[in-house]
Amino acid sequence: MTVDPRDRFPKPPFKPQTQGFPGLSAKMHPQPDHGEASYTGSGKLTGKVALITGADSGIGRAVAIAYAREGADVAISYLNEESEDAQETERWVLEAGRRCLKLPGDISLVPNARALVEKTVAEFGKLDLLVNNAAFQATRSSIDEISEEEWDQHFAVNINAMFYITKAAVPHLKPGSVIINTSSVNSKHPMPALLAYSATKAAIANFTLGLAQMLVEKGIRVNAVLPGPIWTPFIVTGMDEDSQKTFGSQAPMARPGQPGEVAPAYVHLAADESSYTTGALYPVHGGMPIY
Ligand code: NAD
Ligand code: MG
Repeated sequence: MTVDPRDRFPKPPFKPQTQGFPGLSAKMHPQPDHGEASYTGSGKLTGKVALITGADSGIGRAVAIAYAREGADVAISYLNEESEDAQETERWVLEAGRRCLKLPGDISLVPNARALVEKTVAEFGKLDLLVNNAAFQATRSSIDEISEEEWDQHFAVNINAMFYITKAAVPHLKPGSVIINTSSVNSKHPMPALLAYSATKAAIANFTLGLAQMLVEKGIRVNAVLPGPIWTPFIVTGMDEDSQKTFGSQAPMARPGQPGEVAPAYVHLAADESSYTTGALYPVHGGMPIY
């Protein structure tokens, strides 16, 4: 049966619902869709081991569910206060018949970032897929509202941690392994209200393109996904009420995407069949014109 993509999921207006960062998916309404009822695996990642940051909720949870249904064991990283959401991700990974390793902790601290990789390898014996997906975001309407600490926090979580984890992971990655970084449409079209965040997302896209060239000699592919507006805790913790009400209307699809609609891009990039795809920036944005 064909489905009209415009009508598949909720559209604005949404009821504003403010949570403090990082927020919980469990408290959102409507509930985000992570592909729980729809994603069907076909053995694309059989026997692989994946480490996914920010996998308690949102895009990371959808990727964890899809990877598990494709046959991968999954280590999930998140913040301590998100353990309720992380348990839900774990439940779906186990239900898919795969193993799940929960790794709470702040990845902007170098020892924690390194520990993610070491614990994953200790538990599962190897690492094949690294998904650098965690991020911090705060909305500010003028530059004087952005404290130096908040500016630094954006870079510490979004790009520095990505470097720390990637550096720790590379010695374990065999030829055929894949790194996928979550960037954003804001990497190419910065939003003034997300000045610091957008700059980190541009850094991630640039880091991806450089790293892809650097790691090709090891047989490691490196790509990034550029999501548009996606319905996750990020929105109810990082955006003002007006932006929440109309969220998704900026895309030609006239609604936000759901995490489960983004996860297939991460499967595609991770699969062995995509062996010629490295240094790609893969947009999933409901038709927003970016170039
Ligand atoms: P989300 O809130 O579900 O995921 C973000 C996760 O980052 C959190 O769950 C948290 O576990 C993790 N995180 C934040 N700070 C951390 C820290 N210091 N240590 C460890 N983990 C930390 O929201 P999401 O929208 O699924 O976000 C996932 C990715 O998608 C992010 O990189 C975000 O920038 C990107 N993205 C989201 C959208 C959107 O509209 N939702 C659009 C473009 C890009
Ligand atoms: Mg979360």
